[in-house]
Amino acid sequence: MTIFPESFVVFQGQDCLIPRQNADSMRFLDDPSLATSTKPEAVCWPFYQIPPDLFSFTSDRYSYSAFEFDEKKYGAIQIEENDDIMLKRLGIGEAIPFPVRELVVSYPSGFSRFMLMAKAHSQWASISRFCGACGNLLVDAKENEEVKERLDDNAYAARFCPSCKRIFFPRMSPAVIILVHRENSILLGHNVRFPRNRHSLIAGFVEIGETLEEAAIREIREEAGIEVKNLRYMRSQPWPFPDSLMIGFVAEWAYGEARPDRNEIDHIAWYRADDLPELPLKGSIARYLIDSFIDGSFSKA
Ligand SMILES: [Zn+2]
Repeated sequence: MTIFPESFVVFQGQDCLIPRQNADSMRFLDDPSLATSTKPEAVCWPFYQIPPDLFSFTSDRYSYSAFEFDEKKYGAIQIEENDDIMLKRLGIGEAIPFPVRELVVSYPSGFSRFMLMAKAHSQWASISRFCGACGNLLVDAKENEEVKERLDDNAYAARFCPSCKRIFFPRMSPAVIILVHRENSILLGHNVRFPRNRHSLIAGFVEIGETLEEAAIREIREEAGIEVKNLRYMRSQPWPFPDSLMIGFVAEWAYGEARPDRNEIDHIAWYRADDLPELPLKGSIARYLIDSFIDGSFSKA
């Protein structure tokens, strides 16, 4: 495979591995000017530092995914959590691990979008090495004579099965997230996986055959036991943990008493703006919907 990206982002688990010389500046997250001026290069490793032989299409190698951001080409790799040997071979054993979620939510700028793209591509590369139909090793579709003419110029991440001729494109899993309100109160639930007092909005994956609206209504019914009306789309956000596209709605309570499903949600209640529990991190779509409702942006729209 021809390695064409100029630089690479390397992930390990839920961390981004940052070059040591850049790590200090990434810690000053409360400086707003830094947050808006930080460029992707702050977390990138130059191409020459990534030995190409480590990323060829053979079964015992890693693969990377390539993408374009701001007219530059980048590669993204996901290293196994316990693979110190690979880190040494990459020459980045001295890297500083930094939680990806923090990088995404702390930089309200293009940098945040870059991190979302890079993380999604690294995830795609790590789960797309073999054909799901015949089990053959996949190859880079853009480099393959049989298919490259049929692909868009920017389909860098597409993969091809030379055996059964299928083409695979990066995929996402759509999930709905809904702010439900009852007059001035919003419905917030505590998921069993959340920290102790953190509450968030109802959310869940869209199932095969469902519209987004049907998924939203079903999730509210299942997780909170209530019915809603006036469901409206608000905005969306890619959320590559591991591969979601979050689709945000707002809805009004119609009838029913809120109760937790006791499976995913162990506590649920209506909260007023002056009496909120711990909320999701700023930068997440959940927090955006909650903040917008509280400051009245929804009714002005
Ligand atoms: Zn195949």
